[in-house]
Amino acid sequence: MTSSSIHIPFVDLSFQHEPIQAQIEAAVRAILHQGNFVLGEELADFERAFALACGVRYGVGVASGTDAIALGLQACGIGEGDEVIVPTNTFIATVIGVLKAKATPVLVDCHLDTALIDLEAAAKVVTAQTKAILPVHLYGQMVSPAQLLDFASNHNLIVFEDSAQAHLAKREGYLAGSIGLASAFSFYPSKNLGAFGDGGALVTHDEQVAKTMRSYRNYGATQKYIHVNPGTNSRLDTLQAAILKVKLPHLSAWNQARNTAAQQYDRALEPLRDRGITPIRNESGSGHVYHLYVARVSEACPMTRETLQEKLAAAGIQTGIHYPIPCHLQPAYQFLGYQAGDFPNAETLSREIISLPMYPGLDETQVKTVAGCLQEIINL
Ligand SMILES: *Cc1c(COP(=O)(O)O)cnc(C)c1O
Repeated sequence: MTSSSIHIPFVDLSFQHEPIQAQIEAAVRAILHQGNFVLGEELADFERAFALACGVRYGVGVASGTDAIALGLQACGIGEGDEVIVPTNTFIATVIGVLKAKATPVLVDCHLDTALIDLEAAAKVVTAQTKAILPVHLYGQMVSPAQLLDFASNHNLIVFEDSAQAHLAKREGYLAGSIGLASAFSFYPSKNLGAFGDGGALVTHDEQVAKTMRSYRNYGATQKYIHVNPGTNSRLDTLQAAILKVKLPHLSAWNQARNTAAQQYDRALEPLRDRGITPIRNESGSGHVYHLYVARVSEACPMTRETLQEKLAAAGIQTGIHYPIPCHLQPAYQFLGYQAGDFPNAETLSREIISLPMYPGLDETQVKTVAGCLQEIINL
């Protein structure tokens, strides 16, 4: 293997954008021409199309996924004095969203094999103040809807989904975002559906939640200059909505391409299982939309994850770690009162996980090259 000739980036968005570039440019030009940059018609069009794709009634575009969580929780009536159960192994924005809503995040551990929230652990932290559970459909795999709904009804809680990594993911006949009262999505550029900048959306079955959300994102107004709610400024730009509208019809095919590449990884990495490389388990088959392809590098591996990452980088293969520090150990959130050892599975995963290149357009040759390099490095 001539390592210098290999270059496999962690993410490459050009495969998505090149075939639809002319359409995107036309959509952008139309907005430039119309000048309806804020709350334009294309936003409403995209909101309808996205909600429909998610199997819910209403969609409300906002400035980011973080705002979709923060404002969305508030639109669901969650706020000061309310406890919200959140997995500690998530992107920090989940926790930030809860805190921005003035609610209290109550962190729980995850399962080692799937990296998804442990609902038995969640049951142990329910109190009289618990108002909601905020499951994260991590890496593109949904938390079991049946188990979530069961949990929520047993404890009389709201389900608010963080679907920022799981656009159109499916499990047990449910689409991500359609299980609970409401769900947050992010359109950060590298998400499965990404804008050309920041963006997010709340989707919900509930008309009142949607209405409140529309007002919150627009200074709390119900009509111009009538401010009924507290509110802020957090809108999805018309330009971003127009771009997302062009991309949305392709999302399902892009997700399928990710799932196919993941299956190729699974097969190619099989011989490395007894060398300590274990992919995070897929319990939802073709419904897993693989925002990330993550594997564990356990103690059975003859080298550390860091060494492995360095050697892969030297061979021309970019990797990532999602995430190196669980939320409860992040410096800014020590005030929540957790410490090392509180969530052993999340802490183990944070030390062991590695994310391999994953994007629609990653072909089987590249997947085999990544697996081959891993094999060569580990067996050296
Ligand atoms: C990306 C992400 C968010 C935040 O979305 P932004 O659009 O970046 O604010 C929230 N939760 C999870 C799990 C994410 O991956």
